[in-house]
Amino acid sequence: MELNILFYIAAFIFGTIIGSFINVVIYRLPRKGSILRPAFSFCPNCGTTIKWYDNIPIVSYFLLKGRCRVCKNPISKRYPFVEFITGIASVLSLWKAGLSIDYLFIFSFLAILIAITFIDLDFKIIPDELNLTGFILGLIYSFFRKDFTPIDAILGATVGAGILWLIAYSYEKFRGIEGLGFGDVKMMAFVGTYIGWFGSLFTIFFGSLIGAVVGISLAYLNKTEDKGRFEIPFGPFLALGAFVYIFWGDIIKNWYLG
Ligand SMILES: [Zn+2]
Repeated sequence: MELNILFYIAAFIFGTIIGSFINVVIYRLPRKGSILRPAFSFCPNCGTTIKWYDNIPIVSYFLLKGRCRVCKNPISKRYPFVEFITGIASVLSLWKAGLSIDYLFIFSFLAILIAITFIDLDFKIIPDELNLTGFILGLIYSFFRKDFTPIDAILGATVGAGILWLIAYSYEKFRGIEGLGFGDVKMMAFVGTYIGWFGSLFTIFFGSLIGAVVGISLAYLNKTEDKGRFEIPFGPFLALGAFVYIFWGDIIKNWYLG
């Protein structure tokens, strides 16, 4: 079905609203606060509750010129950025799935990946709540899919988590330091329920490759840092691999196997 441009605009706006919620998740979840309470966002600097008209995704940031209305403290550019990329994620999900239940599942997958990416960048942790929610959604989704069965989902989770656990275990054995967190292993269990065993292998391979390139570049640029101990979170790179695979997995698989 050919979708009208208005559907894509609506998908973008819906995505930015979810992105605003993702910002709340990114801020509150690692700080062990309740996601739903307080119900309204507040300025992290002065604590003032943000009025609804100052909380419109992307738009409010520009109307307020990037500052809190009350204390004039700068608002991080990341808030509108996360809203924007979540809007784009929603549009891409609609492009991939059309107006169907698949849209909701694929968009949820991407929204969780976005939350994981920024929490892992900030805190070097991946909250269990996100991995578990994603794992359950992926499992439920597998019952609705034509191209995929619940067996594929379980197999994907097992292969993804198993391989990454093996890498983490060997690394620790050989180098005597922890290179990968267990959060990454659990993340692959979640991701695997959506993209299957081949997708899991691709994600780990792709994530490691891009992660190594970025890691080496950063260690090189950051000359003052002790290079041996320079560490970057792995979650964002796994998220990038999973993102590539959920959209272009068919092409990648056919190319590889054929
Ligand atoms: Zn303020």
